[in-house]
Amino acid sequence: MRITFFGTSHGVPEANRKCSSSLIEAGGKKYLIDAGTNPIDDLVTMGLRPEAVAAVFITHLHGDHTDGLVHFADLLSWYYKEASPVFYVPKPGVPDALRPWLSLNGVALRDDLEFRVIREGVFYDDGVLRVTAFRTGHIDVSYAFLLEAEGKKALFTGDMKHETGPLDDYARFAESHVFDFAAAECAHFDAMLYEAPLREHPPKLFCFNHYSPRYEESCRHLARELDGTVPVIFATDGRMVDL
Ligand SMILES: [Zn+2]
Repeated sequence: MRITFFGTSHGVPEANRKCSSSLIEAGGKKYLIDAGTNPIDDLVTMGLRPEAVAAVFITHLHGDHTDGLVHFADLLSWYYKEASPVFYVPKPGVPDALRPWLSLNGVALRDDLEFRVIREGVFYDDGVLRVTAFRTGHIDVSYAFLLEAEGKKALFTGDMKHETGPLDDYARFAESHVFDFAAAECAHFDAMLYEAPLREHPPKLFCFNHYSPRYEESCRHLARELDGTVPVIFATDGRMVDL
């Protein structure tokens, strides 16, 4: 499994850090997690075409994870008409929200684009990639995703509960799985809250993604504290991780 981070910033962009979006490649197939930036820009820059994307998984409906959906649906509706990823979204109503805006731009949202509502538990399995959704306490409906492919398990936390996400959300997911990779947010709490769950259930590789400058020093502090126990890396836009 290969992960390429398209956007790694927190709620707002930082210099050279766009909002959330990641490309997952496994078994010759491609998938996206979140579209807080315009993923087609990054796909094209990598020499890939939107037709290659099998599915788009959205963790929750906040703009820093979804604003790129407008761009994506726009281009698929009038230009990349052969591209038909299935969009997995946390709530119904997404196509109804996209349609009037695209219409104002003179574009009819393609009727054949499929939007499916995510349910907790295993909600996707195409024989290559299996995706499990865990509820998080971030907002009324928000998810972390466990991706399983090629014998590897990768967690994307999405956004978690304000103030206590690592203890209330991350610790719960880690209880039942050993992650080969965990891409974890740090925009809503001090990173040191990860220390206990990471020591108890260490992933093979822990990656700060969607971290705020406000908590960056605590992220670096945690990395130093866990040195020799859990390898900690920092996602940057364009960074690739092979599992
Ligand atoms: Zn959010």
